[in-house]
Amino acid sequence: MWASIKTEAIILSVAPWREADRRYCALTPGHGKLEFFGRGAGKPLAKLASHLDPCTILDLEIIRGARSVTVIGVERRQSFSTLSTSLDHRLLALTSLGLLDKIIREEQEDAVLYGELTTWLKFLDTQESLHPTRSTFLLSGFLLRLMRQLGYNVALDHCVGCEGDILPLSFRWHGGRGGLVCSSCIATNPGEWFLATPLRQEVVQLMRLARDSSYDGLYRYPLKGADVSSLASCLHDTILYHVPGATDRPFWTGILPLQTLAIPPLANPVPVQL
Ligand SMILES: [Zn+2]
Repeated sequence: MWASIKTEAIILSVAPWREADRRYCALTPGHGKLEFFGRGAGKPLAKLASHLDPCTILDLEIIRGARSVTVIGVERRQSFSTLSTSLDHRLLALTSLGLLDKIIREEQEDAVLYGELTTWLKFLDTQESLHPTRSTFLLSGFLLRLMRQLGYNVALDHCVGCEGDILPLSFRWHGGRGGLVCSSCIATNPGEWFLATPLRQEVVQLMRLARDSSYDGLYRYPLKGADVSSLASCLHDTILYHVPGATDRPFWTGILPLQTLAIPPLANPVPVQL
């Protein structure tokens, strides 16, 4: 337990709280996700709040009181100029921060996760332009890394039924189970797997690449919109399977109008928890 700490942090979300307060969630390298409050009407909070921007690496000072945690000091350690000025970049950064906030629990200490986030923000800040299809692909890459780090790896190499190896061209996608199911499981028990749908080998390879390649590699990789759409739908299934209630809408809707990418309806609609 601690009474007061100073820590590096990245703000994930900000929301009004009661009449004059604000509620913040931040990710830190040593204390995981922390929730805290900015207190008080007027100047003390206003002065702090202007620095508590989500697209910045901060040095925070917070104290734990009897009932809640309050911020008492903040300094900017590193600002990201492109994330502050370009709407496309900022939407993508804010969407990823918001998803991170929903997917991770409080005080899961995880320095690797914090490193993944800073790598992602630094990468985004240095990109000149972002096409919606490219943004969706990059965000998929970030989410796949995040899910893997939290122990929610998408099942691409082993069958979600029998855990055997997935062989090329011998599988289907099962959205409700968040991964691939092998042809022999389907042949053995068609009733259990009747919701499984065909998924092209190219999309499986694209998903592996999105999870495993560097962001620079993802930025240069030639993309087809239809493949990215399928990948995004599969990833949405995976998030719903592992983190029920984490998202009330597909993750890409934060960054682009739906018609831009022509996302097809999900093959296996999963009940969405609002
Ligand atoms: Zn199987």
